[in-house]
Amino acid sequence: MKLRDLRVRISSYIVLVFLALVAAFGYALVAHQDRLYRGNIEKLKKSVGIFHQLNHVRFEALAHHSTGVAAPMSELGELLKLDEFLFIRLYDAQGKPLLHLFNDLTFTSESVDAKFPAPKFTRDKIGWSEEDLYLADPPRVYALGVFSAPVLDQGQPTGYIDYFYDLSAYKDQSFYLASMVIVFLLLTLLMLAVIVNVLFSRFYEDNIQGYFQIGQDGRLLSVNSVLATMLGYASKKELLAHAEQFVRSNALTQHIQQTASSESGEQSAELQLLCQNGEKRWCLFSVDKVSSVRGELLYHECLVTDISDKKAKEESELKYLQATQEINLQLEKKVAERTQALEALQKQAELLARTDTLTQLSNRRDFYDKTQHELNRRKRLGGAASLMMIDIDFFKHVNDTYGHLSGDQVLKVLSQVAQSVNRETDILARLGGEEFAVFMPDTPLALAAEVAERLRLVLANTNIVLPEGEHIHITVSVGVTSILATDSHIDDLLKRADTALYEAKNSGRNRVCQA
Ligand code: GH3
Ligand code: MG
Ligand code: MG
Repeated sequence: MKLRDLRVRISSYIVLVFLALVAAFGYALVAHQDRLYRGNIEKLKKSVGIFHQLNHVRFEALAHHSTGVAAPMSELGELLKLDEFLFIRLYDAQGKPLLHLFNDLTFTSESVDAKFPAPKFTRDKIGWSEEDLYLADPPRVYALGVFSAPVLDQGQPTGYIDYFYDLSAYKDQSFYLASMVIVFLLLTLLMLAVIVNVLFSRFYEDNIQGYFQIGQDGRLLSVNSVLATMLGYASKKELLAHAEQFVRSNALTQHIQQTASSESGEQSAELQLLCQNGEKRWCLFSVDKVSSVRGELLYHECLVTDISDKKAKEESELKYLQATQEINLQLEKKVAERTQALEALQKQAELLARTDTLTQLSNRRDFYDKTQHELNRRKRLGGAASLMMIDIDFFKHVNDTYGHLSGDQVLKVLSQVAQSVNRETDILARLGGEEFAVFMPDTPLALAAEVAERLRLVLANTNIVLPEGEHIHITVSVGVTSILATDSHIDDLLKRADTALYEAKNSGRNRVCQA
């Protein structure tokens, strides 16, 4: 629940409770006063009745002696102790006023008669009535209690007496008391309202949140000291003195404008507030509209929470995260580089495993893989291909005569010559020792035989310079064959080429034979 609502709710409860209390007290007081008043009237009636019983004969005598005269009661001496009465009026048997006896000399027969004329009724029985009497000089309203009683002589009325009693004191007293109580209750209510407001103000003051009220014109109405301290001001007063700058530099009106357009009427945002020393503090800013009962917008109420520490923590966490991400990236990069290097090494190793180190041609294993692949493809799609096997004639003799290194040199030269004679698409390999093979895709047997012949001739005419400076010539025997429909493995071709090679050796060497 919003603070403002809580405040309004508590205030209304207090008002309701105290209105109820005022009503209850008022009612109880009026009832009590009424009871008291009625009791007093009863007592009064009783004592006036007794007084009448004791004295009416004397009044009658007096009336007979002083017909038409208004006399002060004090003149009646000890006999009549009539201080309690305002005045007494005596009537004859026909109800005509005979005499007034006044306690208060401001009364006159005329004034009393004018305001309180003799009643038209006959007073056969004892009666009681209450009347108001206004006298102009001095101006005053009297609440009169009138006790009326007949003067009886042997059961027959010979006259009547009205005793006028001033009840104002009773009524004044009850009014005074009621007023006192009401004033007291109202004062209590006022005090409570003040206490509630002070408590709330203290609440705002003691709250860990900053608080301020801002009018629609952008004027700062109030602030609490938490806000002042938060923003580095010495006191609320100092902040209020810089109110205009505070509102302007923090663009508070713009922010509040946005709030006004929000449908919920409440909005929170994180924004940086400028402190007095020029620093900026991250604050959680929550704005609430305060409207009148009729719905008019009065001002905005803003709660401000310092979230600088939280922000700093978030920032350091973000930095840590970024640093961690950077390290991860670097690690990933290194791993990728290592992987790449390893892959290159692996490829190199694979290449080495498939390459003859002396001649850099394919070795037997690589030759088998590649040619088997070509053979399968041709069997599937069709097409010609041939294979030749080359063996150096009397190579042992070269080794024996010029040394092993010279033999190696011969092998290298042979591979270079073969590469220059054959097409790029041909697969050349050193199968082992001084034995070489060439797979020729898309080459029919006749053409393959021609290539073999050309190679034989080129080699025979190649002048080989040995490491020791000697010059030698070598010859080779070659066996050539082509793919047959029955061939399923490269070995089938190799066997036929080998047979042809064997034939070339046996028939004198330095020649090409086909199979
Ligand atoms: P032929 O005409 O019947 O083929 O006679 P040949 O001497 O060439 O036949 P043989 O198979 O008896 O000799 C092959 C020789 O090749 C034996 C070996 O010393 C030599 N040789 C095998 N591998 C290498 C090598 O890597 N380097 C050198 N220098 N010689 C090798
Ligand atoms: Mg051999
Ligand atoms: Mg040989």
